[in-house]
Amino acid sequence: MRAVIVGAGVAGLAAAVRLGRDGWETLVVEQAPARRSGGYLVNLLGPGFDAAERLLPGLAARDLGLFTTVLVRADGRPKLTVPAELAAAALGKRAITVFRGDLESALFAEVRPCADFRFGTTVTAVTQEENAVRVTLSDGTVEHADLLIGADGVHSATRTAVFGDGWRVPLPYVVGAVDLPGPPAGVPERSGTTFIGPGRTAAVINLGPQRSSAFFAYRSETPRSDLDRGPVDALGAAFGDLGGGVPDALRHLALHPGAAYFDAVSQVVMPRWSAGRVVLLGDAAWCVTLFAGHGAGLALAGADQLGAALSAHDDVPAALAGWERALRPEVTRRQALARRGMRQYAPPNRFHVWLGDVTVRAVTLPGIRTLVRRAATR
Ligand SMILES: Cc1cc2nc3c(=O)[nH]c(=O)nc-3n(C[C@H](O)[C@H](O)[C@H](O)COP(=O)(O)OP(=O)(O)OC[C@H]3O[C@@H](n4cnc5c(N)ncnc54)[C@H](O)[C@@H]3O)c2cc1C
Repeated sequence: MRAVIVGAGVAGLAAAVRLGRDGWETLVVEQAPARRSGGYLVNLLGPGFDAAERLLPGLAARDLGLFTTVLVRADGRPKLTVPAELAAAALGKRAITVFRGDLESALFAEVRPCADFRFGTTVTAVTQEENAVRVTLSDGTVEHADLLIGADGVHSATRTAVFGDGWRVPLPYVVGAVDLPGPPAGVPERSGTTFIGPGRTAAVINLGPQRSSAFFAYRSETPRSDLDRGPVDALGAAFGDLGGGVPDALRHLALHPGAAYFDAVSQVVMPRWSAGRVVLLGDAAWCVTLFAGHGAGLALAGADQLGAALSAHDDVPAALAGWERALRPEVTRRQALARRGMRQYAPPNRFHVWLGDVTVRAVTLPGIRTLVRRAATR
């Protein structure tokens, strides 16, 4: 069996790992000239953690472990310090926190020996044949496969080619993330500072050289024109008044604007994720947004479960239908939670979703940990 996978992000690489393990031949097509890394922290818990454990047993070594979170005021002064132990208690034992870039690198290392990669390439046309799918690529080649997986993110070209336009639901937010080469000034060692203000969040993490990162999200009624302005201008305008680690992060961003992840926030809502021998996976199919805090986890779990469904059926379209039936309720729930959470603030990851809850002030009371964990892993 042969699969063409469009997109070498978390979903595409995880699918290549899983299918490769099940004996599939895979070709991964990525539009960027080289593998893209970067991005802020992702928390993997629940089905995402289970899938990571199966697909990437070595990932635990990249766990960022415990660090303190400091909620700060606009000028950078601390407002509330949340000890590392509390974060650990909130997320529970079966959880891991990694840089998105580390997760991608680990998947790439796992899959590199057994998958073919074609960078700087995208899909231009898709035709379904009786027992195969015919994929035309931008390098002029034509590939035949048993399955085409569109894992090319929220702006998926595979989705457009097969399902047409109109599935992306824009939300009034813009998000930016940038890796920092050294410890950001104004952020204590092994700490993350988070400013959460009305309609905007800035989080800067200091885990040492090459292990530091900044995340920004803000509400915007004109995300498209913000994107046109570019990350330096738009994030500077939205966060330039803040203190703490933010000025250092913005300075670094100004020096390396191309390294930033910068996008408008949108969900993808579709009635079907597959058609014949084409399936969409990850953000391409169901982008839940960062406000759900489960985008990477769902991409991993979706890929792993897709492999399981394909192993259990000889008939590809039937396998895709069964896979979607099982996964859809969780995705629908996450999308609803994201829309709800978004009204209050713009949290950078799952832990912050919980942190934003006012109950944070009560968690030091004895006996309340179980309640906390339930809320955090919801
Ligand atoms: C560089 C980067 C940084 C990110 N940082 C954050 C972050 O800090 N916080 C956060 O919440 N989310 C971030 N995300 C999004 C997050 O990774 C996803 O929401 C989640 O992991 C689901 O992954 P995915 O593989 O479905 O999509 P993505 O991670 O978006 O991966 C899609 C891949 O497909 C490639 N691609 C896109 N279009 C085409 C095309 N037409 N042809 C071929 N390939 C294509 C992209 O270059 C990318 O490699 C980031 C994404 C990227 C690409």
